[in-house]
Amino acid sequence: MQTRLILSDEEWRKRLTPEQYHVLREHGTERPGTGCFLGTQEPGTYVCAGCGNPLFRSGTKFESGTGWPSFTEPISPDAIVRVRDTSYGMIRTEVRCARCDGHLGHVFPDGPPPTGERFCMNSVALKHLPEGVAPTLLQ
Ligand code: FE
Repeated sequence: MQTRLILSDEEWRKRLTPEQYHVLREHGTERPGTGCFLGTQEPGTYVCAGCGNPLFRSGTKFESGTGWPSFTEPISPDAIVRVRDTSYGMIRTEVRCARCDGHLGHVFPDGPPPTGERFCMNSVALKHLPEGVAPTLLQ
């Protein structure tokens, strides 16, 4: 696991768009059906929009019908952290970037094979790097 990126709230506000800040730093959720990665299939890697940490491979992306981009597994188990989330009267598992602690979305146990998991992500928390472009960790 690489070094963690810890920034002040002020620094995050400067770096991120208001939409990115709301999701990544305030645990917001983009409206379903609105994200830029809905229905996309371009090969490559999805990295954290906050810190550049590689999170998902395009080959694990699937159409969940939920209105949010969905993946069956992270690029590696330690790319993300899972946090119990009891907000809004539900028991869910929140998914955060392991490097910057940014909120990415949630994971549910109703996904397709091979993992049976559905990583339900916010498009605005991700950036897509085309195949062959090496990820750069933001410092
Ligand atoms: Fe991150």
